[in-house]
Order: sequence, then C-alpha cells, then structure tokens
Amino acid sequence: MVYFVGAGPGAEDLITVRGERLLKEAQVVIYAGSLVNPELLKGVREGCEVYNSAYMTLEEVMETIIEAEKKGRMTVRLHTGDPCLYGAVREQMDILDREGIPYESCPGVSSFCGAAAALNLEYTLPDVSQSVVITRMEGRTPVPGRESVRAFEHGATMVLFLSAGLLKELAEQLLLGGFKEDTPAAIVYKATWPEEESHICTVGTLKETAEKYGITKTALIIVGEAVRHRQYQRSKLSDPGFSTGVR
Ligand code: SAH
Repeated sequence: MVYFVGAGPGAEDLITVRGERLLKEAQVVIYAGSLVNPELLKGVREGCEVYNSAYMTLEEVMETIIEAEKKGRMTVRLHTGDPCLYGAVREQMDILDREGIPYESCPGVSSFCGAAAALNLEYTLPDVSQSVVITRMEGRTPVPGRESVRAFEHGATMVLFLSAGLLKELAEQLLLGGFKEDTPAAIVYKATWPEEESHICTVGTLKETAEKYGITKTALIIVGEAVRHRQYQRSKLSDPGFSTGVR
C-alpha cells in the first residue's frame, strides 16, 4: 500500500494526526527533500528505508515503490504542503494504476494556508474578495495561455506559487491583468518555518522588496485588497439576524 501524505508547510507539528501516524507505520518513506522539514523523519520506525526524492528521477521513485510493494512493505510518499497543489502526484498515481498497486491520499496544510497564518490574513473578506486564485508564473512547466496571470481580470485575491524568482515579470502581468501599482501585496518566505519572514508591499514594489530581503525562492506572493484588510463588511454568518441553520 502507498500513501501520498501532505507534510504541511514546514513546521514539524503542522502535519495532520493521520499523516504522522502513517509516517510512524511506514517501512519505506520517500520525501520531497527540498521543502519537507527533515525533523518530520525523526519518528520513523527502526529499519524504515528513507529516500530523498530531490536526488531521484520519477523512474527511480517508482522503482523504489514497486520494489517495496513486492516485499509487502508500506510506503509513504511525503510531499510538501498538500500533495494536490503542484505535487506531481497524478503521474505517480497513473504508474501505480498501471502496476495495480493500491494507494490513498492524506491531505496536508498547504503553504498558502501557512502564509495566511503568517499574516493573520483572511483571503475571503466580505465586500473585498470572495475568491482566491491559486496560480504560478510559467517556468519550465508551461501555464496554459488562457490562465496566464494577465488573463485573470477579476480583482480576486491571488496566491502565486513558484514565482518568487520572476517578480518583475509577475508585476508586469498583474498590471496587464487590471491590478494597480499600489494594489497591496505580500511576500511570505518559508511560512511556518523558524526562519519565516513576511513583507507587505505593493504590486509596484514586489521586486525591490524581495531584493531587499534576499528572497528568491520558497516564497508565496499574495496579491489583492484582502492583504490590507480595510473596508470590509462584517460576516453575515455570525450576524444576530441570521438563524444558525445557515452557519
Ligand atoms: N504542495 C505544496 C506546493 C509545492 S510547489 C503546497 O501545498 O504548499 C513549491 C512552492 O510552494 C514553492 O516554490 C513556494 O512557492 C511554495 N511554498 C512551499 N512551502 C512554502 C512555505 N513554507 N512558505 C512559502 N512558500 C512555500
């Protein structure tokens, strides 16, 4: 059996209770070494084989899992944040399907939630924004043209993964997409790790802010009025005029 487990955004106590239990039971662990906190591996059982997938190709990862399965061993494939976002899990699952190997997913706390916590931010402020767009700038992995940052003319809150090294281009795209130079933005570096940093800026100052603090990776960019959290309406849900049925 194979479990795709979300490791959470960084802090070792932000894995789920289920994820932690699966890690303790695993006989083979393959973790995404570039972003998974190695402290999480402290609790694995004696004799557990531990591999860092940062040094492995997809083929090597799959071979390791298939071998483990042949020996009747349980594997945890540990991904950063929640595996459903930029986790490259589908390609692994397709191979497991072909091999007839059963698997299950265990969610994790995504870094976009960790970043909101770092800023005490609510992405969906009434009367400000009720939608969150999770996207990225195009890198080696292409982004379909209809989803390019500039195609989003909506004013919704945006969370950009994998884009901290492309802030000049990002700001250009955001301006083309209808945001303003002075639209609030934030850069959150290593959310929930001990070295976490968060910096509030604007679309126009994204690049200089990142340069000032030497941030080039492992950061999320958040864009939109929700960052400033002014002029919002109180929630209707806890309004005294509402019955609890809709809460
Ligand atoms: N599945 C992960 C995302 C993997 S893609 C998740 O749900 O969070 C890797 C990108 O995620 C990084 O380039 C960075 O943009 C972001 N990221 C991951 N962990 C982060 C953290 N602790 N703080 C800020 N950004 C993070």
